[in-house]
Amino acid sequence: MIFVIAEHKETKLKPITSELLVFAQRLSRDFGQPITAVMLGSNTAALAGELKTKKIDRVLTAEHEELTDYNPDRYVEILKAIFEKETPFLVLIGHTTQGMDFAPRLAVALRRPLIAGCVEYEKEGDRLVLTRQIFNAKLNMKTALRGEPPYFATALPGAFAADEIESGGNADVISFPVVLKGTARRKILERVEAQKGKADLSSAPIIVSGGRGLKEKQNFSLIFELAEAIGGSVGASRPVVDSEWLPREYQIGSSGQTVSPKLYLAIGISGAIQHLVGMQGSRCIVAINKDAEAPIFKVAHYGIVDDLFKVVPALTKIFKDLKRA
Ligand SMILES: Cc1cc2nc3c(=O)[nH]c(=O)nc-3n(C[C@H](O)[C@H](O)[C@H](O)COP(=O)(O)OP(=O)(O)OC[C@H]3O[C@@H](n4cnc5c(N)ncnc54)[C@H](O)[C@@H]3O)c2cc1C
Repeated sequence: MIFVIAEHKETKLKPITSELLVFAQRLSRDFGQPITAVMLGSNTAALAGELKTKKIDRVLTAEHEELTDYNPDRYVEILKAIFEKETPFLVLIGHTTQGMDFAPRLAVALRRPLIAGCVEYEKEGDRLVLTRQIFNAKLNMKTALRGEPPYFATALPGAFAADEIESGGNADVISFPVVLKGTARRKILERVEAQKGKADLSSAPIIVSGGRGLKEKQNFSLIFELAEAIGGSVGASRPVVDSEWLPREYQIGSSGQTVSPKLYLAIGISGAIQHLVGMQGSRCIVAINKDAEAPIFKVAHYGIVDDLFKVVPALTKIFKDLKRA
């Protein structure tokens, strides 16, 4: 059985939950393992109802008012109880702030291995081999799982395309009886949201990304205009952010966001490995660069070798004209 720990906030499933389900659905096809989504919370009915429509086998809910807010101690306590009763093959958790907080504690509590930050997997015979990025994503490391299951793995946000999720399911919803011991060691006193930027790239279907080839800050308006014309979001390479043309939240790459949109336009971006690791999972990559040897063309599905200052305004015009037509 493959378990997916659903992540949710303010009565909504977070995008990582769909990404984990896509990961699980692919694994399920390859290894013939059923899928259970686990939902911890205080009022889980609506979200469990949403999860059960996905192509999975079961939704396991654990409800308690102490689970209204995420609490690592309680998560570990309940999940440990669940996995001592169930027989998981693999437990998938988001490599998110929350997942990175409780996944290692849970793996230690059950004395099982955790493979953190997975971006892909392979089936070698009957063996599962997980790929994770190391050395600031300069290298991919393949980890074969040994010993008896369960295994624990976290998946990087953006590594699996959420929109590939298969729906049309009608999974059973089962409630797990929650018995909590003593009082929690930690309590949330206040939640302070980080200031929200304009760039929510994690779930953007189209991203128009600009790099140092734009030369200076004001030229970035070309990227914003093209993004607006095709209904996309704006992203950037690191030099753009380091030069303060745009805030940090726009950065894509090993030290920025990992994205997997349907369409990714890389404009004036050379394609350094640190940038590629953040966007090479995109469904369709279009590169515009005047240097035909730029490494971005190695991952691009389509390429335009020309001056971006000529190509980008022309593309913007075409899309604007198409909209008007
Ligand atoms: C620890 C570490 C972490 C890093 N993390 C990240 C990260 O998260 N994200 C990231 O992006 N980078 C990251 N980097 C930096 C990375 O190594 C590269 O330096 C960076 O990605 C290069 O950005 P760029 O492609 O915009 O610039 P450049 O490499 O300078 O490329 C500019 C490109 O624009 C093209 N160009 C120039 N003029 C034109 C024109 N008129 N028309 C068309 N094309 C033109 C050039 O041919 C060139 O290919 C990191 C580096 C380190 C060491």
